[in-house]
Amino acid sequence: MLARFGMGTAASLLLALTMTGCGNEPQPAASDKGADKAAESAAKHDGWWCVEHGIPEGICAQCSPKVAAEFKAKKDWCKEHERPESQCFICHPELEATFAAQYEAKYGKKPPKPEGE
Ligand SMILES: [Zn+2]
Ligand SMILES: [Zn+2]
Repeated sequence: MLARFGMGTAASLLLALTMTGCGNEPQPAASDKGADKAAESAAKHDGWWCVEHGIPEGICAQCSPKVAAEFKAKKDWCKEHERPESQCFICHPELEATFAAQYEAKYGKKPPKPEGE
């Protein structure tokens, strides 16, 4: 009994760690809800992926000023392009493929192309 309890605890701890590690979705800001009023943008955004910027919505500093502030606090910021250095596809074109791979791992297909470019 005790041994099983111990293992269960370890497993759930691991699970919790994994979940906080990759499912790290910050609370959606109340102001973001207003943007959803446009039916079109709601259709384009599945809630996880930011089609426009090619990265997960939860860490999209270009969509959320709150997220942007967090990256700035970590000194992860490209002043030239007004986005986190770790999300700057202009300075680091290879990052685009890295984020696209995350999308592909989740949905089994390539991320949709942003419109207008
Ligand atoms: Zn975005
Ligand atoms: Zn840059």
